[in-house]
Amino acid sequence: GPAVLGLHIGGSKTHAVRWDGTPAEGGGVEITEASANLSSVGHQGADAVLRRIAASVGSGIEAVCAGAAGADTPASRAVLSALLTEHFPGARVEVVHDTRIVLAAAGLDAGVVLVAGTGSVAWGRNADGVEARSGGYGYLLGDEGGGYSVVRDAVREALREYYAGLEPGTLVRSLMAATANVDALQLMDSFYAKPEPDHWATLAPLVLELAAEGDPAAVRIQAEAAHHLASLARQVLGELGLELPLVMAGSLLVNHSQLAGSVARKVSLEDPSSIRILSQTPVHGAVELARQLIKD
Ligand code: BGC
Repeated sequence: GPAVLGLHIGGSKTHAVRWDGTPAEGGGVEITEASANLSSVGHQGADAVLRRIAASVGSGIEAVCAGAAGADTPASRAVLSALLTEHFPGARVEVVHDTRIVLAAAGLDAGVVLVAGTGSVAWGRNADGVEARSGGYGYLLGDEGGGYSVVRDAVREALREYYAGLEPGTLVRSLMAATANVDALQLMDSFYAKPEPDHWATLAPLVLELAAEGDPAAVRIQAEAAHHLASLARQVLGELGLELPLVMAGSLLVNHSQLAGSVARKVSLEDPSSIRILSQTPVHGAVELARQLIKD
């Protein structure tokens, strides 16, 4: 079949898959690159990442679909779309929000998607094609329960313990060690000195692993994240129909079963089996949407 390219542009990385046919015909090329998210790396940064991807996936690509975190407005989708057209001349190009490729990767037309990676969002579409969304306004305006907000809560915990005159607990000590800071004040300074959300979000697994081990401060932060994520999902399910399947995706939910379990319990659907964790990687949804672009 004709070659297509699927892109998943997350808050912290870009995942690209070139697809040349059915698995039997022999798969494609798979690449992980830095994020090409316009709101975190800017136009030049995204341009450089897409140039490297274009160089590695080879020529002859007929359709490109990018599912992008932060592609929330027509304007931001147009900018990304123009960049893709430049790097993949002649190809059909489509830019969609990252939630769309999650639904496609799950093989669903109707359903609700909850993503918690660097940021967080819930979005869904029901069988009538009605769509609803909650959250995902980026790290300055939303993203509660995403990786960045989890780590920010841990930094707040460090400050709380410091000003309460307490000895730093396990969570705070681990955070200091991982960031080479000696105390909460230095940690606060480095938080402001390097405010990039993807940088801090890389520490979220540290917090969630300590929560899984029962560290009380980490457990509180995880519970808070679960609460926020569950209410994003509840909001969208409430608008579209509680019978819809809920697909959880993003590194936080996929890699941390305790968080995912806690979110699932808090969403508390009558039929818990309608909640699942995405088993495919989201980029495969982008490949699927790219293939549909040249089908019709
Ligand atoms: C972005 C959303 C995205 C969400 C999950 C947020 O930071 O603003 O567009 O859907 O993260 O990736």
